[in-house]
Amino acid sequence: MDNHRGVLVCGEIGEGKLAPITIELLGVGRKLADELDEDLSVLLMGSQAGSLGQETIAYGADNVYVAEDSLLDHYNSDAYTQVAADLCREMSPSIVLLGHTDIGSDLAPRLNARLGGGLATGCLALSIDPETRLLVSTRPVFGGNAHATVVSKSAKPQMATIRPKTVPPAERDDSRQGRIIPVESKLDPSAIKVKVVERVKEEVEGIKLEDAEVVVVGGRGIGSAENFEMLRELANVLGGAVGATRPPCDEGWVPATLQVGQSGRMVSPKLYIGVALSGAMAHISGILGSKVIVAINKDEEANIFNVAHFGIVADYKEVLPPLTAKLKELVGS
Ligand SMILES: Cc1cc2nc3c(=O)[nH]c(=O)nc-3n(C[C@H](O)[C@H](O)[C@H](O)COP(=O)(O)OP(=O)(O)OC[C@H]3O[C@@H](n4cnc5c(N)ncnc54)[C@H](O)[C@@H]3O)c2cc1C
Repeated sequence: MDNHRGVLVCGEIGEGKLAPITIELLGVGRKLADELDEDLSVLLMGSQAGSLGQETIAYGADNVYVAEDSLLDHYNSDAYTQVAADLCREMSPSIVLLGHTDIGSDLAPRLNARLGGGLATGCLALSIDPETRLLVSTRPVFGGNAHATVVSKSAKPQMATIRPKTVPPAERDDSRQGRIIPVESKLDPSAIKVKVVERVKEEVEGIKLEDAEVVVVGGRGIGSAENFEMLRELANVLGGAVGATRPPCDEGWVPATLQVGQSGRMVSPKLYIGVALSGAMAHISGILGSKVIVAINKDEEANIFNVAHFGIVADYKEVLPPLTAKLKELVGS
């Protein structure tokens, strides 16, 4: 008999707070658990885990397992895998969800190898098949040109990593009730072979791309590092952030951290403006959560116009300066 039950989210903590991906995983995890009529549990690791237990319940968890050990304060492959695998063996969840983040992408395959489950990585959507009650994971394949649905028919737990900003975050309700359960840490420091030798914090100028409500993305057609200044001016007026497709990053016109798309950042702003980019699937798969998509391209056949709500067919150098000037006038800056 299959004794796997419940949904377990491996949560992430960043700077003492629940990381945004944890709240997104709670949103999708709650939905899956409700459909199965089973519990939603969350594992939090690190000295601050306990202090975030109540908030995690407010975001939808029935049970919060807290492993409060200073060895878990920063992500460590060996330590996190050990604690998460021990908990999974003890509670036998049917579904385990992680973020498709640096942490989740490292932890998920290690955990899956130890548990012998089925893993779908980089998913965009998750649902439950009403007939089989199995997890259905949707993930982009072939450079984002197609979507595959993945079902693990017999291996349990069914595991998935979900891309940031692809599912709506859970809504907070402080009246929710749940249990905070301490996890006894059986970590043996000598078994931790990975050592973090240095931690470098990424310097971000202005608003982080993933958090911006307006994102202005430049493509290969921008032509040079200097020309990106026109995009920065537009983004500044709108209080937004600048991103790029892959070619400007490869050319060194902008840092690689600004790449938006399948192998870069996923964005879901209120307004996305794509300038001089063709709209390749590998880029589009990273912007589909945007509420309004505006495209500027001199080629009216460019694929970006197929997903854009508004399009301007023109040379961007002729469009951006008057557009920025007019917006400046309108917002009064
Ligand atoms: C595994 C894999 C992962 C990838 N991941 C990503 C990713 O994460 N993000 C990403 O972006 N790409 C990614 N790519 C690359 C992707 O497939 C495309 O090659 C890339 O997105 C194309 O970038 P682009 O639209 O800027 O350039 P192009 O396709 O060359 O398009 C440039 C556009 O600019 C227009 N243009 C030129 N000059 C002007 C002008 N003066 N005014 C107006 N329009 C102008 C042209 O009409 C053209 O449409 C990936 C590829 C692979 C294989």
